[in-house]
Amino acid sequence: MAQQHDEGVKIIKQMLAQEEEKYKCFQVDHKGILWFNGRIVVPKDHQLCKQILDEAHLSKFFMHPGSTKMYQDLRQNFWWTRMKREIARYVSKCDICQRVKASHLKVAGVLQPLPIPSWKWEDISMDFIVGLSNTS
Ligand SMILES: [Zn+2]
Repeated sequence: MAQQHDEGVKIIKQMLAQEEEKYKCFQVDHKGILWFNGRIVVPKDHQLCKQILDEAHLSKFFMHPGSTKMYQDLRQNFWWTRMKREIARYVSKCDICQRVKASHLKVAGVLQPLPIPSWKWEDISMDFIVGLSNTS
């Protein structure tokens, strides 16, 4: 974990030193690392956030996790402001996820005829006719 050297971390540490009630959920350990309820505070460092998100998201072997799943996993260990929103934005920018989503959302176009079955009764389709007038 890189050093926490950002403005936000500095401010929170100052508030802690002044024993601000609101900042009680933060703790500083003996190494000077800032924690939020047992989760490490990730400084506003674009590279670092990206690294954490990449690690949680990019897998060659499995489906990419969605933002809810990623948030559930990452929140066990990490905390930063607007974390949930940033994860959602990260996932929305992932090329692979967009392609997967697009293939699930194929636009309904012209009705496709069923392929000619290669065996009897392989495909059965029915049309329901409604709205006929009653026989007299
Ligand atoms: Zn993805």
